Amino acid sequence: MLKLLTSLAATAAITLISGNAFAQAYPERSITMVVPFAAGGPTDTVTRLVAETMSKDLGQQIIVENVGGAGGTLGASQVAKADPDGYTLLLHHIGMATSATLYRKLPYDTLNAFEYVGLVTDVPMTIVAKKDFEPTDLKGLLEYVKANADKITLANAGIGAASHLCGMLFMSEIKTPLTTVPYKGTGPAMTDLLGGQVDLMCDQTTNTTKQIKGATIKAYAVTSAKRLDALPDVPTVAEAGLPGMQVGIWHGIYAPKGTPAEVTQKLSASLQKALKDPNIVSRFAELGTVPVTDAEATPAGLKAKLESEVTRWKPVIEAAGQYAD
Ligand code: ASP
Repeated sequence: MLKLLTSLAATAAITLISGNAFAQAYPERSITMVVPFAAGGPTDTVTRLVAETMSKDLGQQIIVENVGGAGGTLGASQVAKADPDGYTLLLHHIGMATSATLYRKLPYDTLNAFEYVGLVTDVPMTIVAKKDFEPTDLKGLLEYVKANADKITLANAGIGAASHLCGMLFMSEIKTPLTTVPYKGTGPAMTDLLGGQVDLMCDQTTNTTKQIKGATIKAYAVTSAKRLDALPDVPTVAEAGLPGMQVGIWHGIYAPKGTPAEVTQKLSASLQKALKDPNIVSRFAELGTVPVTDAEATPAGLKAKLESEVTRWKPVIEAAGQYAD
């Protein structure tokens, strides 16, 4: 018996030492960070900025892989199935929480398939249209959309995407359904908005600020409580008459379930450093967003956010009765 206990204790000690040694040496090769949307969109922009800065700190390259489709659930599913060794990560947004209810047959269990690294940033949405869209302000837009509902197209990045959620809020506020056009991300949707192939979109400021400032698209409102320094002329949804449309698109970094805690802690510390990097702070500011606090950029911060957001959106989605399947 004593022999068995001694050998069990020795095995446990070896596992602990090898776990620590693994975490100390980590990362020894490049890391893949999956973005569950197309390249060139807002989630991609946030991910590339953060990945580049974290990779300098970690001393290894972070390769960004775009796995767009099904409102972000394809990319999340790929990461849920990946080896839990710290070399595959996911940067996803609020869609991680809404898809838990929107998809009744998700190939992963949202609250049990991932470890958490930390929150990254909370980005407002903007209601935007192609450049020559007739209405000049939100009030005019609402009247125009109601009168021409059968002719208007609304782009989104699939069911579960932030653009889908924001578009749903818009249609439910104005009680008018529109024809939606799904893309693998709002990067390609923006290309079509710029080309005038679609009329309207609701998208993160991280994708729209540059175009709004360059007047290549038209902006009607931001979904934040206050006007943004980056877009001082764009009214808030509350000012413009749609107070029920306030919404923030929070982003977080995840790892597959079973990734060692030492690894997620190391990544979280690196994320916290990255979020204080002057380049990230100024690029985020230009794009209408700010990094989260150190306390939020932690595994516990992201876990609490995801759990509360799954709970918050469940009854809203169930009441709407619209599912992805
Ligand atoms: N903005 C997109 C969304 O609607 C995602 C993206 O392309 O980054 O969720």
